[in-house]
Amino acid sequence: MNFPHPSSSVETVSRRIGAGSRCLLKLTGHVCLTAALLITGCARAPMERAWISMATFASVSASGDDASRIDKAASIVTAEFRRLERLWSNYDARSEVSILNGKSGSEVPVSPETRDLLLKSRSFGEATGGTFDPTVGPLVDLWGIGKKETFAIPSDEQIGEALKRCGWANIRVSGEDDTASLTAEGMAFDSGGIAKGLAVDIAYDKLMKEGYQNVMINLGGNMRCSGSGRKGKAWNIGVRNPFDGGKIVGILAVTDGRAVATSGNYERFVEKDGKRYAHVIDPTTGRPVQGMAGVTVISPTAVEADALSTALFVAGVKKGAELLALFPKSKAIFIEDSEPLVLKMSAGMDDCFTLTDDVAVEVLGP
Ligand code: ADP
Ligand code: MG
Repeated sequence: MNFPHPSSSVETVSRRIGAGSRCLLKLTGHVCLTAALLITGCARAPMERAWISMATFASVSASGDDASRIDKAASIVTAEFRRLERLWSNYDARSEVSILNGKSGSEVPVSPETRDLLLKSRSFGEATGGTFDPTVGPLVDLWGIGKKETFAIPSDEQIGEALKRCGWANIRVSGEDDTASLTAEGMAFDSGGIAKGLAVDIAYDKLMKEGYQNVMINLGGNMRCSGSGRKGKAWNIGVRNPFDGGKIVGILAVTDGRAVATSGNYERFVEKDGKRYAHVIDPTTGRPVQGMAGVTVISPTAVEADALSTALFVAGVKKGAELLALFPKSKAIFIEDSEPLVLKMSAGMDDCFTLTDDVAVEVLGP
């Protein structure tokens, strides 16, 4: 995660970073004008507040009675994101994650939130067979992900050396004294594949405690929705066409506290000699994932959607479909990095997903 940015108005944010910051476009209000007219086409669109948090686009939308309390919701969510970024940022030397990394090999005290982040990271590492592995920090550094100007293709020796310092099983969390450690020296925990999802869940729980019923939170494409967006209907979230950022391939109808996240190769990547390198690392090879354009996941929680979208991006369609069977409440849409676009999706996805573009669809096994 990145440095905090000052809050901005919806208009400023929309102009600066475009209609959506990930594969997902929200089709609720003024964020995605064309699509909003297309889908909602209604004067009583939900209210939205948007700003920049964790170096990405953040927003809260509210409808029905909650719309009149949107400013309070936005201030609760903004404060939560800020608080969690201070704990989890990889770019702030004072964050608990940076301190943990700086003292790898030793125990350090951690807050309950960081403890939860680390425990969930371990458990997703284990459950995904290590395709989700936030200890890829040494490889993220080596490949210069997030630091375009220093990008150079590392040698096999460098990759091999960095791989020795990775491994989710080396995250230790003490049950007794609220300490944690990365057991091997030179390890580095990278919060980028899970922290935004967990932050959305924590902020979502706060809003639920405050009695909000019809709200949607978005942090860089990690979204969680309760109640309805308009006229008692689910929140509409557009899934972007990875080969044409201006288009969507379909709409997810999301409600009941469910969450959506996307991992893609088309917004955050580095290029060298005409070749694109995704910002997601395959922890088996130590190299950026090849072959996937985007994976969108719908799950019961934002942390599951976030971790799983990264894991499935690494696993690819075939292994990803097997992995998904271990998460029966989550479903996914896979788009491989080859044209013409074929949308491969979990069986049962048609409950909540409507195609809007004329693309080929393949339903994955049960
Ligand atoms: P985004 O952060 O763009 O929404 P993801 O949720 O897929 O996308 O997270 C990608 C980030 O996670 C990378 O930028 C990096 O910080 C970290 N990461 C890279 N590879 C992995 C991996 N295999 N497992 C867990 N985290 C990863
Ligand atoms: Mg993720």
